[in-house]
Formats: sequence, C-alpha cells, structure tokens
Amino acid sequence: MGMRKLHILKFGGTSVGNLERINKVADIVAIYKRRKQLEVVVVVSAMGDTTDNLIELAKKVNPSPPERELDMLISTGEQVSGALLAMALHKKGIEAISFTGPQVGIITDVYHTKAKVLKIERERIEKELEKGKVVIVAGFQGVTPEREITTLGRGGSDLSAVALGVSLGAEICEIYTDVEGIFTADPRIVPEAVKIECITFDEMLELAAKGAQVLQTRAVELAKKFNLSLHVRSSFTKKEGTIIMEKKSILEEPVVRGIALATDEVKITVCNVPDRPGVAAHLFEPIAEEGINVDMIVQNVSHRKVTDISFTVNKNDAHRACAITKKVAKGLGAGRVVADEDIAKVSIVGVGMRSHSGVAAAVFKALAKNKINIEMISTSEINISCVVRKEEGEVAVNILHKAFGLGSGKKQTKNKRKK
Ligand code: ADP
Ligand code: ASP
Ligand code: MG
Repeated sequence: MGMRKLHILKFGGTSVGNLERINKVADIVAIYKRRKQLEVVVVVSAMGDTTDNLIELAKKVNPSPPERELDMLISTGEQVSGALLAMALHKKGIEAISFTGPQVGIITDVYHTKAKVLKIERERIEKELEKGKVVIVAGFQGVTPEREITTLGRGGSDLSAVALGVSLGAEICEIYTDVEGIFTADPRIVPEAVKIECITFDEMLELAAKGAQVLQTRAVELAKKFNLSLHVRSSFTKKEGTIIMEKKSILEEPVVRGIALATDEVKITVCNVPDRPGVAAHLFEPIAEEGINVDMIVQNVSHRKVTDISFTVNKNDAHRACAITKKVAKGLGAGRVVADEDIAKVSIVGVGMRSHSGVAAAVFKALAKNKINIEMISTSEINISCVVRKEEGEVAVNILHKAFGLGSGKKQTKNKRKK
C-alpha cells in the first residue's frame, strides 16, 4: 500500500469540550500542518457530554424514540464542533473546511444507531486536501444509500477516524483523548495504573471488548484488519502516548497486559428450569434471532431435575431479552425470570496467558482473599472474566491490578528506598 504523508487526527469529546479546548486543538492541528508539513484530516466528536444530553432529551420526549429520529438528533453534536474548529483554524490563518459524514460520502448500512461503514467516497476530501486545506469531518455519522443519516454506535468517532484512515491510506491515526494513552487499567479507577508504550491489536481489541472505553471495539477491529497503526495520546500534554500496532515481539510478553471493567451488562436468571436436553437451545435461539448478543452463561448444578440458568446481555438489550425469556420460560414450565442490573464484569487480558497455567486460579484466590464473591466466570486463551456485585467492581479491578503486579514497579522500589 503506497503510504502518503497523511495523518488522521481524532479529537474526543473532552478534547473539544469548550471553546478554550477547541482553540487548543487548533494549535495541535497547526503543528501537523505547518511544522510537520503533513496532509491532515481531522475527525471530531461532539463537545463534552453533548451526545449523552441529546439522548436524555430524546428519552424525555419519548422513552423509546424511533431510531431514525434518534440518529437525526444525536448526529448534530459533531457538526457543531467541526464547524467551530474550522473557524478557530481560520482565525490562526490556516485554511480548513468542515464537513458532515454524509457530505464526504461516508456510506453505511441501514441499521440506525449502530450502522456499519460500507464505503467512503473519497473525491470531496481529496479535492480539498489538494488545495492544501485541513479537512475536518464530523465523526460518528454516515448516510445510507437512500440518504438517511445514521450513527455508528457510541464511541463511533473512533470508527470514523479509522475508516477514513484506511480509505485515504493514512500513515497513522492519532486518537487524541483525555488520558495519556492506554493504561494497564482505567487510570480513573486505578491510580497506580501504568501507561503502556506499545500494545498489539489483539490485546487492545480484547481490552476494548471487555469494557475499556478508551477505544471503540469496532474501530480497533477495523484498524487490525487493515493494519493501520493507532496512536492514543492526550490533547492536554505533548507526551507520546501508546502505539497500537501489529508487532512480532522478540521479548516474552507479560502474562497479564491489562484489566478492564464493564458495568453495562445485566444478568438475567431463569429459575427452576426443567433439566432436560434441548432446554438451552429453546432459550437462546429466540434471543439470537432478535440479534441480541449473549455474553456469559452459567447453568447451576441441578438437583431434583431443575436448574437455574443465568446469562448476561448488554443493558440496551436487557428489556427485550427479558421479555423473550419470560415467554420461553412459560413455555418450558420454568419458574421466575429475574433481571439483575447490579453487576460488574472484571476481565484480565493478555496474550501471554496462552502459555501460562494458574492464571485463573490466581484471579480467584486474589478475589477470595478480599471476600469478593464471583457470580459468573468465563475464560478464553487470552482473557478471564468474572462477574461480581456492581459496587465491588472497582475494588476488584484494583485488587487484581495489584495481584498481577501491574503497577509501576519503579515507583514502589523508590518509595521503599526512601524509607
Ligand atoms: P474520548 O471522548 O476522547 O473519546 P473516552 O471517554 O471515550 O474519550 O475514552 C477515554 C476514557 O477511557 C478515559 O478518560 C479513561 O477513563 C477510560 N479508560 C478506560 N480504560 C482505560 C485504559 N485501560 N487506559 C486508558 N483509559 C481508559
Ligand atoms: N459523540 C459520540 C459518543 O459520545 C461519538 C464519540 O464521541 O466517539 O458516543
Ligand atoms: Mg471515545
């Protein structure tokens, strides 16, 4: 793939959170354009909590608004920050032009609020880049072939940035956010978390999928697919952040790379299910048919020919999943269906776990020692997840972070020596 000297710069909600920040972002863009002499395509998120506020507004009018209209509403935030950034750049004497997703032909499928990018018509962007302009694109949005406005799922500006990077053949996609990079755990939850210099797509993908909101999972997936390196960094400092890339490391990988916390799942339990072949299929088939993803599943040990089945789904799907489950439970002659929102899922992630035994045992031991009850467990080659009570989620992350020695070793030795 012929590399051109083009960088995608993506700025998240906090980075463009107010006018002072937008001016700061303009300064950063100016460095790329003037000092580094690069072609620059900027992708912006909506200012601060704009998207959350718009969703709240919608729900006040209608608790389950038509998704088409929801997209009409929540896609507006990004247009505001894009236009303001263009104005800020003009004031600094830098030629810039802002666009919506539809204007630059970000074509998606028809699934409102979670649309997939099908293709990007590059002509308009290329034309403006040729004129030497900074091109600003509103993130998070696209348009169907029928000219309906869509959005790409929460955190979708990351996806806009990666998709544009792939389509335009960018050298790298720089994701400017409000933390200095990818840490061993969310630095807001674990103060000792350490910044990771370089991480593979696979590990980042797993961390994102398990709840580390710093990057949208689908964006990492796409970057991996097309081998487009990402650089996650802060718009508040000049420091280098974290590089996400495909690398064949010579050194041995750490066993555990990082820890993620997800608090957006709901546990649904069907009580007293008759214990006979085919029951699980009866329950999970109709849920799958509705396009609902089931994450973890636990079937309790059965005495007396009945059993409890619990599973988790995203909270956005919980309502529908519950309704289906109740129907099925009735048909099966099962008992009550209970939805539990007060759960959190703690996951440890690392490709080094593949070749190590005893990692799961160490997780269970650390949690047990701190009297944290594990309600569900799932494991893969590179991840172990435990469902715990929601109020214990952050504590559990801290415990595991310590148990696997992920904190800054340097700091600890220094402190000891001082004493
Ligand atoms: P943006 O608005 O820039 O897209 P997000 O809020 O989507 O920013 O993502 C950044 C946030 O992700 C950070 O403020 C941090 O709290 C959270 N986060 C979760 N896990 C991690 C992690 N492992 N490393 C860094 N940040 C993380
Ligand atoms: N503004 C959108 C959101 O809050 C997209 C993004 O910030 O990436 O989800
Ligand atoms: Mg984000």
